[in-house]
Amino acid sequence: MRHGLDADQFILAYQPKVDMRRGRVVGAEALVRWQHPQRGVLQPAAFIPLIEDHALVEHLDVWAVGEALRQAASWAAHRTPLPVSVNISPRTLLQPGFAGRLAAALQPHAQLGTPLLELEILESTAIDDLTQMAGVVGQCEALGVATALDDFGTGHASLTWLRELPVAALKLDRSFVRGLLHNDADRAIVQGILFMAQRLGRLVIAEGVESVAHGEALLSLGCTLGQGFAIARPMSPGEIPAWTTGFEGAPPWGRTEDITKPES
Ligand code: C2E
Ligand code: MG
Ligand code: MG
Repeated sequence: MRHGLDADQFILAYQPKVDMRRGRVVGAEALVRWQHPQRGVLQPAAFIPLIEDHALVEHLDVWAVGEALRQAASWAAHRTPLPVSVNISPRTLLQPGFAGRLAAALQPHAQLGTPLLELEILESTAIDDLTQMAGVVGQCEALGVATALDDFGTGHASLTWLRELPVAALKLDRSFVRGLLHNDADRAIVQGILFMAQRLGRLVIAEGVESVAHGEALLSLGCTLGQGFAIARPMSPGEIPAWTTGFEGAPPWGRTEDITKPES
């Protein structure tokens, strides 16, 4: 992988995140793929688990932040201002000086005047020092980089993280979204997470919106932000601007309110 990084074999695909109620695109998640010279295009499941507990994941994350930022700045300069969310492991966030380097990376794009970057914190590894982590998350938020807890409800110590970390949002894990239409337990868990997030002043974005019916069920429970195959598959960066225009012209859930109204 180190060789692959040096040889520029990694690319990012982008999956739109939308406001289903307003029919607006609110961002895009950057998802890494490895264009392996012998094995073809590899999905993250084939290599991320191997490096989760290794310094290489920091190397990959830092590359992804730089690449995503470059892409978001390019979209913004071409009239598609969309923040890009990058998946980041706790190890990377806890690197000494992380927030300072992030500030330096953002600085050249400050004149664009639009948020370019968000971070999705992976819960795949336990962290010892939540206080230190809370400090870094607060620094990111202060830089205008919104943070989210990824795969919320399935990883390590979710509720403690939620209590301690000043994250702006939770990503509702797709395992709960999947069962929403038929499974009372999943429905109860989703309702509970939505209620808790609302009381804590955090946003919720649903992962794994695999059908229009899932989107409708989420909307009926008050979850307006979503991402999933029913909305769009991950795509190449060049496809995002036209897809955004097409989606906002004809959102799958119809427009339940006039989008020219100011956001409440
Ligand atoms: P994640 O952050 O939860 O990303 C969402 C994953 O769900 C993506 O898989 C996406 O393609 C998939 N997905 C999206 N919509 C649907 C849907 O409707 N149904 C289903 N079944 N799946 C859907 P992908 O690209 O294979 O990424 C898997 C995981 O790899 C990510 O999960 C994230 O944890 C990790 N990852 C991806 N890119 C990076 C990266 O740059 N750095 C690090 N450290 N981890 C990454
Ligand atoms: Mg993610
Ligand atoms: Mg996720």
